[in-house]
Amino acid sequence: TTRGGATRFAAEQREEVLGSLALADDVRRLAAGEDDVGELVLLHQPLVALPSRTVLGCEALVRWQHPTRGLLAPDTFLPVAEEQGHGALLDAWVLRTACRSATTWPEQWTVSVNLGRTSMVDPGLADGVRATLAGTGLPPHRLRLEITEHDQLPPDAGVDALHELAALGVGVSLDDFGTGYTSVAYLQRYPVTVLKLDRSITGSDAAGALLGGLVALAAALGVDVLAEGIEDDAQCARLAALGVDAGQGWLFGRPVPAEQLGTAVGNPT
Ligand code: C2E
Ligand code: MG
Ligand code: MG
Ligand code: MG
Repeated sequence: TTRGGATRFAAEQREEVLGSLALADDVRRLAAGEDDVGELVLLHQPLVALPSRTVLGCEALVRWQHPTRGLLAPDTFLPVAEEQGHGALLDAWVLRTACRSATTWPEQWTVSVNLGRTSMVDPGLADGVRATLAGTGLPPHRLRLEITEHDQLPPDAGVDALHELAALGVGVSLDDFGTGYTSVAYLQRYPVTVLKLDRSITGSDAAGALLGGLVALAAALGVDVLAEGIEDDAQCARLAALGVDAGQGWLFGRPVPAEQLGTAVGNPT
């Protein structure tokens, strides 16, 4: 009935509000400079070269270990954090944690960290990243920042910061390419070093001509191409044959906690 539905909706909303309060607690700790946050968890997923499947590095992916709802995916809480203006704090924690973790990996591995909308418009972005690199001792060339399209992102957002960081050797990956409308403009605006083709266009039914064209575009611009969402061998072989340089997906490894990374990718360290 409508009444039952409305009650259920209210209960869900209440859960939602309580949920964001609990997250706000962790965010307050982050704001106070405490890194020992209780419920935020960082996972790492390998990025590999194609066709060799040699590990090139990992992408850091955040989760929220919710006390009652379990391990929550970023799409369920990042929009709330962004809306509340805490996105940059969260990204900064991910950056510190990921860079610290990366210093224990083989030194040829890079670490990729996502930047949300709030980070992109943060005037302290370049200073913050430089301070984290200095503080953790991670060489700039081992860090890659992943940027993606956002609605009505001011055209100058993060442009100077990313050029400044790129000059230090930090890589810039253009994430989710092929899903948006303006990311071709982003390719021109930002110092992009890697084009990440979104999972929605790397699936087995995606047109080869489209993917071949994007690989050619990337080659013309001198940037590497990475395909996201590679789940099986046939898809992997097809993408490698098209000239895709690198891949990421369940075939090579799911996102795992840093402690499990060694076994997950067969790394001897
Ligand atoms: P993304 O940066 O494009 O990350 C790739 C997403 O694809 C991840 O989802 C990953 O778990 C998933 N994935 C990887 N391989 C496969 C596969 O083979 N098959 C399928 N079906 N999925 C695969 P996840 O971890 O849920 O993250 C979703 C998005 O949330 C990310 O997309 C990124 O935009 C955002 N995100 C994650 N962590 C952070 C963070 O620390 N800060 C910010 N600002 N955004 C983040
Ligand atoms: Mg990403
Ligand atoms: Mg991506
Ligand atoms: Mg994506």
